Amino acid sequence: MVATTELPTTVFSLDLNEEQIQMQKWVHEFAEDVIRPAAHEWDEREETPWPIIQEAAKIGLYGPQFLAATTNDSTGLLLPVCIEEMFWGDAGIGMAILGTSLGVAAIVGNGTPEQMGEWIPQCFGTVEKPALAAFAVSEPDAGSDVSALKTRAVYDEAKDEWTINGQKTWISNGGLADVHVVVASVDPALGTRGQASFVIGPNTPGLRQGAKFKKHGIRASHTAEVFLDDVKVPGRQLLGGKQKLDERMARAREGRSTGVQAALSTFETTRPAVGAMAVGIARAAYEYALQYAKERVQFNKPIIMNQAVSFTLADMKVDIDSSRLLVWRAAWMGRTRHPFTSAEGSMSKLKAGETAVRVTEQAIQILGGMGYVRETPVERWARDAKIMTIFEGTSEVQRIVIARAISGLHIT
Ligand SMILES: Cc1cc2nc3c(=O)[nH]c(=O)nc-3n(C[C@H](O)[C@H](O)[C@H](O)COP(=O)(O)OP(=O)(O)OC[C@H]3O[C@@H](n4cnc5c(N)ncnc54)[C@H](O)[C@@H]3O)c2cc1C
Repeated sequence: MVATTELPTTVFSLDLNEEQIQMQKWVHEFAEDVIRPAAHEWDEREETPWPIIQEAAKIGLYGPQFLAATTNDSTGLLLPVCIEEMFWGDAGIGMAILGTSLGVAAIVGNGTPEQMGEWIPQCFGTVEKPALAAFAVSEPDAGSDVSALKTRAVYDEAKDEWTINGQKTWISNGGLADVHVVVASVDPALGTRGQASFVIGPNTPGLRQGAKFKKHGIRASHTAEVFLDDVKVPGRQLLGGKQKLDERMARAREGRSTGVQAALSTFETTRPAVGAMAVGIARAAYEYALQYAKERVQFNKPIIMNQAVSFTLADMKVDIDSSRLLVWRAAWMGRTRHPFTSAEGSMSKLKAGETAVRVTEQAIQILGGMGYVRETPVERWARDAKIMTIFEGTSEVQRIVIARAISGLHIT
């Protein structure tokens, strides 16, 4: 090695650029001024916070432009940076605003440019009348096991029309959305490789909401069953088109690699985003607990002066920062098309989700009784955090995905 006093030139940097910093500040202001003050009310009401979604639409935080700006960022970091700020504000309202992007991600991930142009604007509606989108995969007998979907899509060649029948459950914005992206089985014998995604537009006969769930957390976000009874969908609403699906299923029948699978490909891209949501909740709880620990006096000194408390805060901070780094790495890899050889997207979601649960629980402990009551938001943050280890693949499912990726074996 040659010793040198000159600093090496490098392109590696974790500094956000000027545009990213401006967007981060802008979303943070909205989270602080609009989302946080409304969070308790909408959590108690357990309803979709339409006025807040409309506010977000008015300033351009809800709509295709915001999505384009964040997803076009060449580093991939802008989306997780903005999501973290929004969920720092509140996870229930954050989910009500961002739930649409699950449906949009399915359209972007599987659709043709024409389908994107037709459907993405409809997912968001207009500033005056915002709309929502939903992504419907889960079913009563198919949660972690996506290959077990029973919802069937049958093609009528003469009419170039699909008929979809089935029942979906746990669907964010289910029944309330104008646009539902529904994953259905076309050839059940092929498992996930025989599945396809269909866009179902507003007021389509046969699609209706079932029961709405009363939840533990993210209560401002609507979650419901969706029933599909003889829903008729024109051929052009099969995402990616019939030819591509036929070719993929033919490859699967011959035992060849099929590449993209409808539901799984959407989850690949959305998991780092869920990691960013979890980082936002964890950071909110950590900041609150840090401040409280400096102010709360017991035994004639602030409680932070006890190592038991300050070391807990140190651990919380380390967990949050390491989670964010994993989220940023996965987002960067996704944007720059680095293959996720070790399931880095799943790694980020796993670590951040479990961090959010642990850190919010630690924050309750630091606040003592004040952490256990609704006078402070920490109790709500702990309830909200738990979903981060359940939806978009449970922690166990993430471990399976990672174990398979690192071992090359079909771990079950
Ligand atoms: C609030 C909320 C919003 C949601 N939003 C949506 C949405 O918009 N769209 C959508 O399609 N779905 C959505 N979901 C569904 C969510 O993705 C599922 O709940 C999740 O995938 C788990 O499925 P399940 O609930 O059926 O649990 P199960 O699959 O029944 O799992 C139960 C337990 O068994 C474990 N387990 C299962 N299989 C294995 C295994 N092989 N090895 C080890 N452990 C295993 C799981 O990890 C879990 O701990 C949402 C759920 C909730 C609660």
